Amino acid sequence: MTKRANNRKNEELRDIKITLGVVESADGSCYLEWGKNIILATVHGPRQIFPKHLANSEKAVIDYKYRMAPFSVTDRKSPVPGKRDKEISLVSGYALESAIQTEKFPNTVIDIDAVVLSADAGTRSAALTAASLACADAGLPMKGLVSVVAAGRANGDLVWDLDKADEDTEDAVDTAIGVLFPQKEIVLLQMDGFINQKDWKKVISMGIDAAEEVYKLQKKALLEKYPVNG
Ligand code: UDP
Repeated sequence: MTKRANNRKNEELRDIKITLGVVESADGSCYLEWGKNIILATVHGPRQIFPKHLANSEKAVIDYKYRMAPFSVTDRKSPVPGKRDKEISLVSGYALESAIQTEKFPNTVIDIDAVVLSADAGTRSAALTAASLACADAGLPMKGLVSVVAAGRANGDLVWDLDKADEDTEDAVDTAIGVLFPQKEIVLLQMDGFINQKDWKKVISMGIDAAEEVYKLQKKALLEKYPVNG
């Protein structure tokens, strides 16, 4: 077993710190530190949708936007959203839709914004994890929480939660896995790299286990802010 550059065990998450309700102007929000990633997620709505032809008479439209701040990466990123931001936003929005009881708010839109303030790989996972918490913080009726983490291969070992040092190793495989808990349904799956079928199955199973650890931290943060008997 090669040692990871970050000294983590293969099945170990980076440190995750969650703070809810940090943005007063939003209906719900979450500030998340995940290793060296820093994310701020907010929720506005549900509110009336304009232009009206975008409305769905059966459910709320989820407008999820994942964005990287220009200063979040070493090579300053253009503030104009690119193909990557749009693709991540689209698939993450579908994942969030499976967690929110959108049918309770027909003809409305729920704006969910996740901004990466500092990036060290795994930002789509951290952003969606934070967004899911911001939705709960907003008091939206939820079917569950989306917990997301990457699993894959770094330095030839199968690992949880790849950071940039892991992702930059030769032959790395990076798979973002989003799981809706407590149902334990996979709601997001995106992969970079090449892997055989046997290891792929292991990676999926590792990703689900890792996501469950993330879910425990999400629940803990929510219960601290909103005690069940408090
Ligand atoms: N990255 C970057 N510039 C970009 C996109 C990504 O420097 O325009 C870096 C950033 O650290 C990011 C990492 O590459 O976290 C991995 O990016 P990837 O597309 O794999 O998404 P992520 O792992 O962050 O979900």
